[in-house]
Amino acid sequence: MNRLINGFESFRRDIYPEQRELFERLASGQSPHTMFITCADSRVMPEMIFCAQPGDLFVYRNVGNIVPPYAQHVSGVVAAIEYAVKVLKVQHIVICGHSDCGAMKGLLNPSELSGMPSVADWLKHADVARHVVAENASHLHADEHLRCLTEENVVGQLEHLRTLPVVAAAVANGSLSIHGWVYDIGEAAIRVFDGGTGRFVDIPCDGTPLPQATPMARFASTVATAA
Ligand code: ZN
Repeated sequence: MNRLINGFESFRRDIYPEQRELFERLASGQSPHTMFITCADSRVMPEMIFCAQPGDLFVYRNVGNIVPPYAQHVSGVVAAIEYAVKVLKVQHIVICGHSDCGAMKGLLNPSELSGMPSVADWLKHADVARHVVAENASHLHADEHLRCLTEENVVGQLEHLRTLPVVAAAVANGSLSIHGWVYDIGEAAIRVFDGGTGRFVDIPCDGTPLPQATPMARFASTVATAA
């Protein structure tokens, strides 16, 4: 616990004074541009890997970066998404999986989940990925199998995301874009889901347009969107 206390002292001494203006401005409200849904894994630090400032990202983390489909039951992540879309009016939602994910390993080896009934229940929301991979990519070995499952889980959670009425409505008018990414911890790399081709590709860092999972808008938006 001393590590936390010492860290907070360093923050107050070294970081806060340099950014006092930002923190004072944020004290009265937030306007994040992106909701970032990722795994609770301690190695995934969104603010660090995107060099984000306080107030930039509305981050929600859970085991397996899961979004339960609408109407199964109320969950914290679904409530957070509704708030992000309706109140904060985020322009993007990213669902981001990661390499070496313990939740995905548990999905592959259910026996590892014995003694953790809540985790086992929670991971049923990722069953779609397990089935897709089992029926279409069972020939893959170890690392490739886990990578494929991790990507398919992101695709499955994007589909769940679109079942939420507030998301469906905002996507339909173009005010909200949705994205599926997988972060590689050891390589500092990100692969993004291209809804047009159904494939994951390296994130473009050369100014070319970012592939998205967002379907075409069908209604005119009343909200300006950012690129
Ligand atoms: Zn994980």
